Amino acid sequence: MPDENEIQILAGQIFDNIQMRAAEAKKELAKLDIKRAELQAQISSAEASNDRYRKFRPVIDRVAQCPRCGVNKGSQIDCKAIPGGTDNEDGWRCPDCNYEFSTLA
Ligand SMILES: [Zn+2]
Repeated sequence: MPDENEIQILAGQIFDNIQMRAAEAKKELAKLDIKRAELQAQISSAEASNDRYRKFRPVIDRVAQCPRCGVNKGSQIDCKAIPGGTDNEDGWRCPDCNYEFSTLA
């Protein structure tokens, strides 16, 4: 007659293995939930930036506006000229977010 205990031990090992894999799966699922929320926030933010991008005015009263603040926050921020531009390029810095860029002079 087969030994009941031996088979029961094997069943216990198989059960433990399944439980361990399920615990790993739960951890992976929690990570995916976080990733999903991050991706959803990124998509929502991109959708919201649509309107800000359309309304952004790159130059107001001959002053360069910060494109980053414009698209990210919908703000029109006057940039400051960075001294030392070349004949071909003017440098600009945003006083709000410190974004730097150059434009043709
Ligand atoms: Zn800015």
